[in-house]
Amino acid sequence: MNSLKTSQDFVKSVLTKMISFDTQNPPGKTAALVAYLEELGQQLGITTKIIEYDEEKANIIWILGSGSKKILFSGHLDTVPVGSIAEWSFDPLTAVELENNFIGGRGTADMKGGVASILGVFHTMKDRIDDFDVQLIYLGTSDEETTMEGARRIPDEYVKNADILIVTEATDMKVGIAEKGAYWLKVIVKGKAAHGSQPWEGINAIIKSVELSKEVAGILEADVNHPLLGKSTFNLGKLHGGTKTNIVPERAEMEWDIRLVPNLDKKAFLQRLEQLFAEYRNKHGVKVETSVIHDIPALECRNVNHPFIQYLKQQTGEFIGLTYGTDAAALLQKNPNVPFIIFGPGDPRIIHKHDEKISLAQVVQASDLLIDAIRKAYSSESDT
Ligand SMILES: [Zn+2]
Repeated sequence: MNSLKTSQDFVKSVLTKMISFDTQNPPGKTAALVAYLEELGQQLGITTKIIEYDEEKANIIWILGSGSKKILFSGHLDTVPVGSIAEWSFDPLTAVELENNFIGGRGTADMKGGVASILGVFHTMKDRIDDFDVQLIYLGTSDEETTMEGARRIPDEYVKNADILIVTEATDMKVGIAEKGAYWLKVIVKGKAAHGSQPWEGINAIIKSVELSKEVAGILEADVNHPLLGKSTFNLGKLHGGTKTNIVPERAEMEWDIRLVPNLDKKAFLQRLEQLFAEYRNKHGVKVETSVIHDIPALECRNVNHPFIQYLKQQTGEFIGLTYGTDAAALLQKNPNVPFIIFGPGDPRIIHKHDEKISLAQVVQASDLLIDAIRKAYSSESDT
């Protein structure tokens, strides 16, 4: 069979162009980038659809082929903010050519490079798609870096009968099959005020807040271990309380960032939390009020024996888990049984930092490996 190899010139030109659209989130304006991808798709003979959900935000969908097996690719279009420009050694909003065939700029690794790999797959396979019983669907979403609203707006039908979902977030070409969930809580602790010279008369809400936080961290530490992700984690990210040096603070407000592993029983954990709050009320006289800020479920791939996944694993080594969530968490709520992987170019250690960059060779390699995995998993060829 003729080789299907990704064109480096193509992925370089689309990556360069995509970086030039400022999609920093907030505010996460993606409409102009979506319009570019619509035009590009049409030029390539690909069916495109736009899902608008805000004046300046949209999702783009590319569809290629009409085979029976639906292969979903997911890659978000927004980026985190560039932060302090002074810390960058190059302009983050122009794709800058760096040494060793790297491209620099905000979003190169997270994850316009990964999107370029997906577009590379479409570009390479467009004239040969009928050789395979597949339909390739790219879901280009907005707001992944904040609320995952874009992924939530993808119509259920795309995910319901998908054969596999591939999220090309930066994994340095490792195959991720699990990700932690995020459970963020706002917690208000109410104690009792007293004069600072008589602290025994009051209940110090700040001290109780810290003690309570430590107990929650301890509960997670004592809970299950995940073979790829280790333990669930707890971070006390914000704590405000108190009004004056000489007053025992009666109120404190915290924000907790809890990251749960997929094999932890979340329902039981939440019950344990309620029990703990009740203990604090009964034993320490403090009232605890909570509200959920953010809730993204943990995920674990339900069929790692899928031939597409097994092929990529053979090419890249051992499976990994991700400590953060991806659009997969929102997409798979529409059908949790779809096998999924997180697999893409880029070093996950440099995302969200200044001087973000990506190896162009790796973007091409990711595209090539995805194409080869499609050939292995979805064709009856004997010569591949
Ligand atoms: Zn990302």
